[in-house]
Amino acid sequence: MIYSPLIRLYVAKILINIFKIYLLKGVDVIRTVICEICEKPFETSARNAKYCSDECRDEGARLKREKWEEETNYNERQRRRMAEQRKAEQEAIRRVSTEAHRKKRKRQEQEADKRKEERLNALKQRAEQGDNLALMHLAEPNSYEYWEAFRDYELEIMAEYEKPIVRYVNDVSIFDDNFSEKVVSSIKEQGIIKSYLITE
Ligand SMILES: [Zn+2]
Repeated sequence: MIYSPLIRLYVAKILINIFKIYLLKGVDVIRTVICEICEKPFETSARNAKYCSDECRDEGARLKREKWEEETNYNERQRRRMAEQRKAEQEAIRRVSTEAHRKKRKRQEQEADKRKEERLNALKQRAEQGDNLALMHLAEPNSYEYWEAFRDYELEIMAEYEKPIVRYVNDVSIFDDNFSEKVVSSIKEQGIIKSYLITE
């Protein structure tokens, strides 16, 4: 039989297409593979076969899980290390800021003490120069010194009153020879201070 070249070409094309279909369908190809566990060669048609038997597959799964756990543990340890490091950093920051805060407060206290001392010194200076209000400030409450200064201050400002008026404290006139003594004891007895002006 003599086929024309056209027919021969046609038949060749059909054969090529059949072969292509076989390839695409994944016709069973038996391969020899080395088992990942026992390293024995075995034959398989499966594309991704790695293990020769169920035992080796189980062992492979076990190793895979172990590896995963190891990595997980490593990540956990890493996470804890990072957390501890962050905590240490935060503590360091807190220590520094607490120290800074303490220093600032100490400085403020020192400044307040300094201002207080300056005010006291100024008051003492005024008292030495005979300033009765300064003497009153410096004297103990309800002391003779306080009422002496009070009387002297009242005598000083009397000149500024338009009418002749006199200051009384607990019925004691500032012109009383024993003004301070009497006022101190009356306050102690009565527990009150009545201060008023009387027109002479
Ligand atoms: Zn095996």
